[in-house]
Amino acid sequence: MKKIQSTCNYCALDCNLDFYVEDNRVVKTVPTKGYPVNDGFCCIKGLSLDKQQTTVKPNSLPKIRQEDGSFKTVSWEEGFSHVAGKLKELQEKYGQESVAGISTGQLTMEEFAIFGHVMRNYLKANVDGNTRLCMATAVVAHKQSYGFDAPGYTLKDLELSDTILFIGSNPVVAHPILWGRVKANNVPGRKVIVIDPRRSETAMNADKWYGLRWRSDLLLLYTVANQLIEKDYLDHEFISSHTEKFEDFREFVKAYTLERGIQGTGLSEGQILELVELIHRGKRVSFWWTMGVNQGYEAVRTAQAIINLALMTGNIGRPGTGANSITGQCNAMGSRAYSNTAVFFGGGDFTNPARRERIAQVLGVEESMLAEKPAKTYNQIIEGIHAGEIKGLWILCTNPRHSWTNNETFASAAKKLELFVVQDIYDSIESAQDCTVFFPVVPGLKKEGTYINLERRLSAMRPVLDRGEHEISDYEAILGVGKALGMGDALRGWETPRDCFNLMRECSRNMPCDITGVTWDALTDSHGIQWPYPEGKEEENREEQRRLYGDGRFFTPSKKAQFVFEEVRENPLPVSEEFPYVLNTGRGSVGQWHTQSRTKEVKFVEDVSLKKAYLYMNTRLARNMGIGEMEEIQVFSVNGQNARFAVKITDHVQYGELYAPIHYIECNKLTPSLYDPYSKEPSYKATPVRFEKVR
Ligand code: SF4
Repeated sequence: MKKIQSTCNYCALDCNLDFYVEDNRVVKTVPTKGYPVNDGFCCIKGLSLDKQQTTVKPNSLPKIRQEDGSFKTVSWEEGFSHVAGKLKELQEKYGQESVAGISTGQLTMEEFAIFGHVMRNYLKANVDGNTRLCMATAVVAHKQSYGFDAPGYTLKDLELSDTILFIGSNPVVAHPILWGRVKANNVPGRKVIVIDPRRSETAMNADKWYGLRWRSDLLLLYTVANQLIEKDYLDHEFISSHTEKFEDFREFVKAYTLERGIQGTGLSEGQILELVELIHRGKRVSFWWTMGVNQGYEAVRTAQAIINLALMTGNIGRPGTGANSITGQCNAMGSRAYSNTAVFFGGGDFTNPARRERIAQVLGVEESMLAEKPAKTYNQIIEGIHAGEIKGLWILCTNPRHSWTNNETFASAAKKLELFVVQDIYDSIESAQDCTVFFPVVPGLKKEGTYINLERRLSAMRPVLDRGEHEISDYEAILGVGKALGMGDALRGWETPRDCFNLMRECSRNMPCDITGVTWDALTDSHGIQWPYPEGKEEENREEQRRLYGDGRFFTPSKKAQFVFEEVRENPLPVSEEFPYVLNTGRGSVGQWHTQSRTKEVKFVEDVSLKKAYLYMNTRLARNMGIGEMEEIQVFSVNGQNARFAVKITDHVQYGELYAPIHYIECNKLTPSLYDPYSKEPSYKATPVRFEKVR
């Protein structure tokens, strides 16, 4: 029996697992002991990774749709040349930007990179990732506040903190291994605080829950900041030595009085002042946020309001502190740094001459071949299809027909495409319904590459199982199209994921995410390695759990962090007489993953998951409306769509709020085409709706 260590490619923790394999079958999966992230533990999703191993066996060759609507199975060579030919044909007919791609935080770093090379550099096409749906807000917040997209914490900080605040974050369900680190915290008197309109599973397990009104988080954070300033609960030394624009911020938050905070958030004076005191009394305060913050119409400023609290109280760069964004997908961090979409491989603007020169030199291509500007964002790509400007789309390992906000807009866009390539391990995903080409690829257990987790830790995915006949990986599918496009020498050095990793290492040299000290072999069977890890400084980075900003130096030109702020905006989609309730959305259970394309294969998850869409409704509201447990309602959204849900009755949502798990396609049928202005991340969390009981 062989033992192979690899990475769980579901959530952002990137737990490592030991797979015991006999006769090309996983006979046992054991969470890797001693691995700094999960040390012998993992959740049900990691334990069930081997349930995907048989998926692609029945048909491992591409399919091309014929004129009569049927599919024809073709060889890989034919599939590559068909896609390459169509991409070129569309570009010749409609212009370079008439083709686009959407990838995902589920791919390996090398797969993003080669997709970014083929699509962004060679074809000058637009590519975005489904990371736009989860982490774009944190990326922009980090860049503006810290000067680089560099979350500074390490998971160990959860064990060292005496005051842990979760804001719009529910790790008990969404990041169970991260919650395990909270449970491992033995700091005497440590407090766990949750700020969330819903009494989530994490709120139920916290010391304090502040159940504020939906989308009043920015107002609360500014109110708290003002109170901290009024009471002089500040770290003056840190503010003056390591930050800029604090005096402007001090003036700005004066308008955020306690009275205004009480009125807008629905919290009492006592609750807000208690929260202020808890932050002040903590010696090591850590603030953690995720999708409840990221997915809003003023999300970047909300994330930065959290960062501001950490900066003004000096809770950053020290053990147990930080303003810490919790990433969603297993390789969102890799996508952010190495997909060549918003920034060059390894970071840096597409217009920066020094970066252009360096990247061209590493890749061995002319500078003119490199992408010249950030790619269009996800919403712009969908809008571009509707406008008739984008005619070809290639999506990888993502299911936008289900996950895109206001998802009927994706369905109608897909029908307008002349080329729609879906590359996935499942041809049963909703997005494949209208594709013109389907590329079946192998699951993670049959491929290799690198993942970067939420605390900047690189870890290795290594093949656990041998491939069957015709089975290929995402990397090979992209490389195949690149070759069929005639990229020739521009693909020299990209032959394998290992080669690509070496290119990315070089691209990262002297950047904040420098990984030049990491090698492919060093990652195999390792404890993972956090960036930065520059060549020649391996000894000083020997510690396994490292944080950034310990020296108070950030990545801005002045090396100081910035206070960034802006007035709270009117909600562009307020509740109204016609739509008097709000629909909140999020994770339903530990076992279900996003659109369920993968976890629906896991019998013990499927057995306990509801088959039809459901939502939670407040007990009193249900009683007033005469709705019983599991009775059905039709929900009408401000976006013009409606959908049917079964009702589960609970006291954990507020009177005017409905909460729908994201795992059912009905959920995002109702969410709006509304985005944060800076990150373009969709506002998934507070859609005005009304409902009727189905009779
Ligand atoms: S916590 Fe995340 S990375 Fe760990 S096993 Fe579960 S899904 Fe996988």
